[in-house]
Amino acid sequence: MLSNVLEDKMMTQSAHFMTVDKDTVRIRQVVNSVFNSCTYVLSRGGNTWLVDCGDIDGILPMIDGNLRGVLLTHSHFDHIYGLNHLLTLFPGIDIVTNESGREGLLSDKLNFSKYHEDPFVLDTPENIKVVRDGDLIPMFDGVNAKAVFTPGHSPSCVTWIVDDAIFTGDSYIPGVKTVTVFPHSDKVQAAQSEALIKKLAESRRIYPGHAPQL
Ligand SMILES: [Zn+2]
Repeated sequence: MLSNVLEDKMMTQSAHFMTVDKDTVRIRQVVNSVFNSCTYVLSRGGNTWLVDCGDIDGILPMIDGNLRGVLLTHSHFDHIYGLNHLLTLFPGIDIVTNESGREGLLSDKLNFSKYHEDPFVLDTPENIKVVRDGDLIPMFDGVNAKAVFTPGHSPSCVTWIVDDAIFTGDSYIPGVKTVTVFPHSDKVQAAQSEALIKKLAESRRIYPGHAPQL
């Protein structure tokens, strides 16, 4: 969500837990300094995954054991700007997105960072792993992330389902109208995606792409 320019240096963190097969996946939220976008840190049994990647400093102390990869909800700048720094520290990890997200990672025009003070293009395209709608990404022993394409806000939007958690990015932020003013936004698709997410979220906890602005 890039509609409201709010540079808030305050970082907040909170932790949630979900139980999968009697084992616990820990989910922690980091609110980033750019537009209050959120990074989520998921860990279990010495493995960690991220959903999106903004400020690195808040994330590093939370990485428990192996960092396996980053699931992207979409490739707008405020959800990806920490990736190059992260990849210098963890060069082997997968950056998981769809084809449109891959294009956004490689174009400061498509990810809108060109219009921000700090243009961003991913330095290492070989780390990108492209998924199709419905693909399952193995995260932890017995736990997969399911990719559900939810275009509208951006064609790169993927909602991720991890058991009873759903990571909606900017495709659905409860109480906030989905932003569809960008060159590649599509209002009709956004409404369809929102309806789909609401249905998928009925029995799940929602982890959206932005925190309420402080
Ligand atoms: Zn966005």
